[in-house]
Amino acid sequence: MTPRAEIRGRLVLDAEVFVGRLTIEDDRIAAVDVDRQATDGDEGMPFVAPGFVDVHCHGWGGHSAMGATDDLDGMARALLRRGVTSFLPTAWSSPFAELHAFADRVRAWIPRAADDGAQPLGFNLEGPFISHAKKGAHNPAFIASPADTPWSQIEPLVDGLTLITIAPEIPGGLDLIRRLRGLGVRISIGHSAADLAGATAGYDAGGTTTTHLFNGMTGLDHRAPGVAVAALIRDEAYVELIADGHHVHPSVWTIIERTKPADRLMLISDALSMAGMGDGRVTIGGQEIEIRDGRCTLADGSGTLAGSVIALDVAVRNVVANGSSLPAAVAAASRNPLAMLGLIDRGRLAVGQRADLVELAEDLSVRRVVRAGRTVDMDRPVGAGG
Ligand SMILES: [Zn+2]
Repeated sequence: MTPRAEIRGRLVLDAEVFVGRLTIEDDRIAAVDVDRQATDGDEGMPFVAPGFVDVHCHGWGGHSAMGATDDLDGMARALLRRGVTSFLPTAWSSPFAELHAFADRVRAWIPRAADDGAQPLGFNLEGPFISHAKKGAHNPAFIASPADTPWSQIEPLVDGLTLITIAPEIPGGLDLIRRLRGLGVRISIGHSAADLAGATAGYDAGGTTTTHLFNGMTGLDHRAPGVAVAALIRDEAYVELIADGHHVHPSVWTIIERTKPADRLMLISDALSMAGMGDGRVTIGGQEIEIRDGRCTLADGSGTLAGSVIALDVAVRNVVANGSSLPAAVAAASRNPLAMLGLIDRGRLAVGQRADLVELAEDLSVRRVVRAGRTVDMDRPVGAGG
């Protein structure tokens, strides 16, 4: 006998919210039955949405993606309890020996990852092939030039590499974009000082997406358009948004939503290991970072933003509060990043999809999480701050 379960609520479908129920069989959605469109009178009934997917996440709950295997499990468990059912552990610019060790660790961990944690979909490298001029909080000592880096240093990173940020204008940048794209890696244009033509060349060479739009890039100067403009006017380009209100003002979220096709916006956390832990200090990539009132900056007094501590459920809530529809916000946190990665087996409430689900309360806080058809025990300790 196959285990069956039914989940009732306000189902967040591709473009609408309907009252109905999902039938789960094993790890899949076996049936979607809808009664009627949801109305204000349905308040109190939970929202049921596809599980969130975070493609740019450096850590969570006191655990760094660049830490030990136990940290990867700890991060995955903590993320799952925030409704993130799949993710990419993300490294920042580091010496190649450390990046090789990170890649080896994640590759070895993926088949053994905790089944009560978010599922890893490979890994993401934010750097080291980025621009010194737009380095943000990356340690300049670890930024590398593709032209000066032998392939023997890059090749050990390729297996399992799902996404990498590259500045297209740096020497050898376009060649590296073409080569890695040819090997199936998704390229994110970012930490880049390219002008409009340079950024466009990056997308033409194989750039699929854009690292934390508006941050670490040439922006929306009306006489000197840069990466942000190239990303906004190129319909097929995906864009990452950190919707915490610190990285991009909410009024600019509206510009993004009116400019980009709805299926190209991705909410990301860019979260640091301290996310979910309150205020404090942490050293990342040799740089000290201070977290105060949910804002992460380099502790050198420069005020440079350095990642975030936002959870994706909060990002969804924030963009909805700013006027997004719930289906659009949920898609930006689930279906869109999956589509960017070429994954279509999850991310929608539809028959045959993997049953990765998140149940949200009226205020869009996470009430329940289902991973591959199994309800997550939210009370099980997940380590510090989980
Ligand atoms: Zn960054």
